[in-house]
Parts: sequence; structure tokens; C-alpha cells
Amino acid sequence: MVPLAGFANNLSALENLTTFFSPTKKMPVLFFGHGNPMNAINENEFVEGFKTVGKTLTKPNAILCISAHWFTKGTKVTAMEMPKTIHDFGGFPQALFDVQYPAKGSPELAKTTKELLLPTEIVLDDEWGLDHGTWSVIKHLYPDADVPVIQLSIDYTKPVAYHFELAKKLSILRERGVLIVGSGNIVHNLRKVDFKRMDEVDYGFDWAIEARAKFNQHILDGDFNPLLNYQNMGSAIQLAVPTPEHYLPLIYSLALKDKKDKVSLFNDKMIAGSLSMTSVLIQPTN
Ligand code: ZN
Repeated sequence: MVPLAGFANNLSALENLTTFFSPTKKMPVLFFGHGNPMNAINENEFVEGFKTVGKTLTKPNAILCISAHWFTKGTKVTAMEMPKTIHDFGGFPQALFDVQYPAKGSPELAKTTKELLLPTEIVLDDEWGLDHGTWSVIKHLYPDADVPVIQLSIDYTKPVAYHFELAKKLSILRERGVLIVGSGNIVHNLRKVDFKRMDEVDYGFDWAIEARAKFNQHILDGDFNPLLNYQNMGSAIQLAVPTPEHYLPLIYSLALKDKKDKVSLFNDKMIAGSLSMTSVLIQPTN
């Protein structure tokens, strides 16, 4: 009975959603390598990359972001009317702490997301807000903060394949004008960062370059199974993904690719030796 009950709930979720967001052309899906929080206020080639992709998009009804920086026990979705801007970092200039991104939330979309993900229990959250994984990139797409934004957290108790299957249940949102965005970094080893060469674009350690090439190949080939079992992809990958929180947002984005979508990369460069800014655009071809 559980699958049937889940199905009925999904139908009612869609009916609810349609009253707020009428059917649209299928939206693309994005994964952003967000990198340094300073990208929120700097001008550089990565920020240019975010802006350029932003210009290709039809303005969405809302954005649902899966950020590396909301890693929780269980899954939560922000459900407040006005999410606060969270400055979840330390040691940066005051100018970065001064940034506010006053996009509205969407309690309706939060409730629909919860229903679409049944029978997984999703907590409607009124405490979080928008962390820098979200606002540091979204602000370059919609600087006027005129698109509602919600966040979905990542359950740290679950394996990679679980996240891939969970994300698939969100695919109908693409047909209701919802832009789904994963925000993390595919190669992300902060312990190995070369602080002396921070500003040198496309400088990467051999293992980081090797890992990026392997990841990119699987992403572009649509061959996602190895990515769900990245722990078995060899020592370079283990160095590239020492912890999963910056990697899992990619898995959410890839799970939403359907057969007819085209996948392309942008901002595909290394920084500081051990981080990749590689970002992914998943686009309907029609
Ligand atoms: Zn981050």
C-alpha cells in the first residue's frame, strides 16, 4: 500500500503546485562549482561564466537549490516566506558579510517538494535560510533577487545512490518552471589547497587534474553509475572527494537529466591546486 499512497500524494502535490505554477517548457538543471565565497562580490572569469549561463535561461517561477553547506541528519526544506541571508563562513572582508540576498521563499513549493519526496519524511524548516552555497552564485543570475528561492538539505546519513533516487522524484518541477540547482565543487580538498598559488587560474595538482578528467568523462557520457560509486574510482578520486558534502549536489543535478537532455560543462578549471570550478548545464534539446 505504501507505493500507492505515495503515488496519490504525489498527484495531490502536483495539483497543488499547478495552482501556483502553471506548466511551462521544461527547465534546464544546473550544477555550480561555487568555489571561494568571495565569488559573490568579485568579478572574475568564473563569475562571468555564471552570468553567461544565467542569460540563456528563461526566468524561472522559483529556484530549488541543493547546497553543500546544508548537510543535515534527515532531509529538510526551507519553508519560510522570507529566508535570511546566512553568512556561513569566517575570516572574510566585511563587504562579504554585508551582502544581503533578499529573495522570497516559497512555502507552497516547499510543501509540494515535501509531498513529491514521500514516503521520505521531509521536515519543513523555518530556521535556515539561504547559505552562501546558494546566494553567492544565484545572485549573479538574478541580481534583483526577484525569483523565490528554497533550499533542500542533504541527509548526511545516506549513501550516494539514495540521493540520486531521491532527486529523480523532483523531475516534474522542471515542467513547472522551477530551476533546480546543485551547488558544490566536484574536486574539493581544502586540506591540500596551495595558498601560495590561490590566484593562479587552472593550476591543479596531478591527482586533481586526473580526477577532474575522469569525472568529466562520466558526466559527459551520461555514465553515472561510476559516479554513484566514486569511492571505487581510484586514489585520485579519493583525494578529490575526501568528504561528500561538496560532491553530492552534483548527484542531485545529474539525477534530473532525462534521455533527451544535452549535458555541457562550463567554468571547467582548477583553482588553488585542489579545487575544481567545473559546472554543469543540463538542457532540454527539443
Ligand atoms: Zn562550499
